[in-house]
Amino acid sequence: MKLNKIQLENFRNYENFSAEFDPGVNLLVGQNAQGKTNLLEAVAYLGSGRAFRTQKTGELIRFGADFAQLEGNVTSQQREQDLRWILFQGSRPRQLYRNGVKKKTAGEISGVLQTVLFCPEDLQILKAGASGRRRFADTVICQLRPNYEAAVTEYNRILEQKNRILKDRHENPALTDILPEYNARLCQVGAIIIAYRARFFESLQKEAAGFHNLFSGGKEDFVLSYKTVSTVDDPFIPTAELEEKLREHLDSHYRAELESSQCLTGPHKDDFDVTLSGISLKAFGSQGQVRTAAVSLKLAQRTLLEKASGETPVLLLDDVLSELDPARQDFVLNQITGGQVFITCCEPGRLTKLGKTIEISNGQIK
Ligand code: ATP
Ligand code: MG
Repeated sequence: MKLNKIQLENFRNYENFSAEFDPGVNLLVGQNAQGKTNLLEAVAYLGSGRAFRTQKTGELIRFGADFAQLEGNVTSQQREQDLRWILFQGSRPRQLYRNGVKKKTAGEISGVLQTVLFCPEDLQILKAGASGRRRFADTVICQLRPNYEAAVTEYNRILEQKNRILKDRHENPALTDILPEYNARLCQVGAIIIAYRARFFESLQKEAAGFHNLFSGGKEDFVLSYKTVSTVDDPFIPTAELEEKLREHLDSHYRAELESSQCLTGPHKDDFDVTLSGISLKAFGSQGQVRTAAVSLKLAQRTLLEKASGETPVLLLDDVLSELDPARQDFVLNQITGGQVFITCCEPGRLTKLGKTIEISNGQIK
């Protein structure tokens, strides 16, 4: 899929803006605070109805204006399609049109313009705690496997109830009797989640390692591994066996859970780790290595989505070049092929052999 053209009216710092894009790389060059990230945000919003920097529609509308309009011409599913959003200040609901026909929800345009974003905050996926990694993985698995979301929602619901029981049983000891029921459900649904994740991390590892290898000029051997409950040595065993392993682990933590009043074990603690040539990235990775690995994960995400849907999502790379040496910068600018890419960058005079450079200054093309 490709975004051929965009027109913005009163979106962020864009009063009246239109641009045509290359089907390959689009390098958005400009000084700080000129609107580069805003343009990526517009592209992502156009396809999803979601802004990656805010939940508040009003913030997307140019200061002082009472509405904003985003319009894009997209080639996807073998045809040209027009998408148009109109956003309003206040409580008036936003409007969405596809090829001039009004749509009720963003769900109705899903798959028309799918984007994969890398932004500097994504470095935290690899550097910070496990919850960000789980969130990343869960988001991608939900995009790939429609039934996964229901399993996660169900698991979280049971988990929340179990945690409440563990807390409330101090006042109401009889509650302890229903814990085994909750544990059984947790193991059942937990096994399904682990089965999905095992398959996902296996393909993510394969794709991301390939990209990281090219990116680092073959100098670093990227290995991503899935970490789940310690009784599960092999997450690919049948789900009935996974369920048994989970039960074993839960049983061995039964006392500790009662004492701490918390649910201590299960796939809600899952994680993955990345090593480069055997060395932990989280503990020892340099800034450039972390960035390289994070972008490789996003490239892998793009490939997995492409394999699932037959369409290559548009890649949005915000501030990806800083901290990268010239060879790695060259990889981003000139070697990511196969789909459309938008890359922001502050250095004037940067060019890409694979597409076009667009200079942005104060919400306009220079
Ligand atoms: P950097 O290189 O620092 O990342 P950038 O080019 O990516 O800069 P943006 O994040 O796109 O910059 O933001 C550009 C400007 O847009 C900011 O100065 C910000 O104040 C302005 N801006 C954000 N929201 C609005 C809005 N609703 N109305 C008007 N201006 C806005
Ligand atoms: Mg920016």
